[in-house]
Amino acid sequence: MKKLVSAGEILVEIMAERIGQSFLEPGPLVGPFPSGAPAIFIGQAAALGQPAGLIGAVGKDDFGRLNIDRLRALGADVSAIAVYEGHATGTAFVTYRPDASRQFVFNIRNSAAGLLEMNDAAKRLLDGADHVHVMGSSLFSERATEVALAAIAAVKAKGGTVSFDPNIRREILQASGMRQALDQVLAQTDVFLPSGNELFLFSSAADERSAVGELLERGISCIVLKKGADGAAYHDRRGMVALPGFAVEEVDPTGAGDCFGAAFVSFWLRGAAPADALRIANACGALAVTRKGPMEGIHRLADVEAFIAKAGAHA
Ligand code: ADP
Repeated sequence: MKKLVSAGEILVEIMAERIGQSFLEPGPLVGPFPSGAPAIFIGQAAALGQPAGLIGAVGKDDFGRLNIDRLRALGADVSAIAVYEGHATGTAFVTYRPDASRQFVFNIRNSAAGLLEMNDAAKRLLDGADHVHVMGSSLFSERATEVALAAIAAVKAKGGTVSFDPNIRREILQASGMRQALDQVLAQTDVFLPSGNELFLFSSAADERSAVGELLERGISCIVLKKGADGAAYHDRRGMVALPGFAVEEVDPTGAGDCFGAAFVSFWLRGAAPADALRIANACGALAVTRKGPMEGIHRLADVEAFIAKAGAHA
């Protein structure tokens, strides 16, 4: 089976317990939850039985251990997660606004995650990899961008493939060189996984159809549009498939796009038909929102298949 690798931020997430809770005064918090978009992605891929590993950096502290232990338990290759003494694992404090959007206080660049580098362990992991997945959020510094571009170059040099989820966080989009980095990654992307309006950050077209057409012209093999509770749509040069989302009660949307992407890419790498990959991805995205915490909604393949079968029986 093909092995996929991602590189980027590993964090713990700590959430305000109440909707609209301000961080300008003390209040109840829940967490720490293991997190970081590439970590969620790799954890979900591993849970589906796909060989998957993460290039990352944590501090020598309990937050770092929480992440490594969780990824290992899900079956991920953690050999390229560096543990730095004297540096703290990254953190994200999140509060949910009444309109369901989220506000973050990030500490990534100045945490152990900021020390991310293409060291020997990372090179070894890439030696055995067939595919690299890049998250826009992982291009949070020049150094992290260098790692992502080097990972892409390493797999592309041996005929491997690349997937890209822009995963734009306004809080880190302002990082210098971020825009250029996003474009550089997109130019080398085979599978593009934008959500919401992210598509229009990469195309001057005014409507979805024209934007998709323009990006396929530029050489992207397929585009998968994530549409929240409405499901997702797959496009390639031969046509498109759209599937509705599964009906679930949303508890916490964090991690849905990462779990969705991991499932889609894993099944794309297995050569599944687009509709089959989309169905599994929709199920993983739906299951992800049923639990509080970014990685708590990761499910193993047997559970995802049982969920799909049950939903089919009720349809
Ligand atoms: P992102 O998290 O990247 O913004 P989305 O919110 O579109 O992406 O979620 C990714 C996928 O997760 C969706 O395409 C869908 O399959 C699934 N999903 C997300 N929210 C829900 C929901 N409330 N109900 C069912 N499925 C959902």
